[in-house]
Amino acid sequence: MLRRMTSSKKAEPPEPEAVFKPREKRTFELGNFELKETLGTGTFGRVRLTNCSLDNKFYALKMLKKADILRLKQVDHIKSEVRILSLIEHPFIVNMAGHFQNDQALFMVIEYVQGGELYSHLRREVRFSDEKSKYYAAEIILAFSYLHSLKIIYRDLKPENLLITGAGHVKITDFGFAKIVEDRTWTLCGTPEYLAPEIIQSKGHGKSVDWWALGVLIYEMLAGYPPFYDESPFGIYQKILAGRVEYPRHIDPKAKDCIKKLLAQDRTKRLGCIKGGAASVKNHKWFNKFDWAAALACTIEPPFKPELQGEGDTHHFDDYPDSEEAVQPEISDHEKALFEEFDTF
Ligand code: AMP
Repeated sequence: MLRRMTSSKKAEPPEPEAVFKPREKRTFELGNFELKETLGTGTFGRVRLTNCSLDNKFYALKMLKKADILRLKQVDHIKSEVRILSLIEHPFIVNMAGHFQNDQALFMVIEYVQGGELYSHLRREVRFSDEKSKYYAAEIILAFSYLHSLKIIYRDLKPENLLITGAGHVKITDFGFAKIVEDRTWTLCGTPEYLAPEIIQSKGHGKSVDWWALGVLIYEMLAGYPPFYDESPFGIYQKILAGRVEYPRHIDPKAKDCIKKLLAQDRTKRLGCIKGGAASVKNHKWFNKFDWAAALACTIEPPFKPELQGEGDTHHFDDYPDSEEAVQPEISDHEKALFEEFDTF
């Protein structure tokens, strides 16, 4: 599979105030991990299932090659990813247990999420029911509400970056584009089909881009394909800016209204960005009678529970050929120094 780079206006109970997680630093080294199957590949290396001898638990070990990070000038993005993941903790975001480095690579020790990518489940089922789409959307809204209250924008929402836990909850992964932002930022990043108009127009962007991407995701879950599609990124950008979306007839009118309001071209009018922020999304009529407190407490039965045979089961992930990691090019002392800051996170 080809992955792409209450209508009653009842106020929701306030969410617990978001705080950065207390710093608990665990010391790991590569020798603590027995490397198993590859779970996925990213730009800078692979993510492997591992068993850790210190606590005999399974973890996803994300390995990022320093030479590639330097070549692609991504040191700041990766710093942001590691720093943010070391600061946050939320039921619908992958939890990082620690990180370490050697001369060649950086390593992130992340809880293993066994159910695979939402992407694979969606492609197999073609499209999700209204109930299932709403459930996953709600968990993402809760995660975004938490991140935004900490001034973190995520910037890479798409089905490939959503994992399903053994119990059936969503976990957002890949914080490579996440950033702590006071107001706006200008870097063009994300995945073409999910880019908000203000990113394409280089107007400077903030939390609004995450709410736009949520609109794209809800559409893709309900329709089975994204709302703006073309063979080339340029064609996709033209469609996003033109803003015309065709809605399949089977999409529930309330869901359609929610998507339309998330896909408002004018970000000052966009759901999530208007008065109330995340609460404006939670209070939309598509979520009428949805119990947000129960969702956050994970006490609503998930719509689907992946079948699993044991904790280290990887059958929900694609097969990747084994690789002997090639010898990495030497990096200079000056370049090595660029990575020293990671040890302080
Ligand atoms: P990333 O580079 O973070 O996007 O990871 C690449 C791929 O590795 C993801 O799309 C997943 O398929 C897999 N992956 C990443 N993190 C985890 C995790 N914590 N548990 C299971 N699989 C993961």
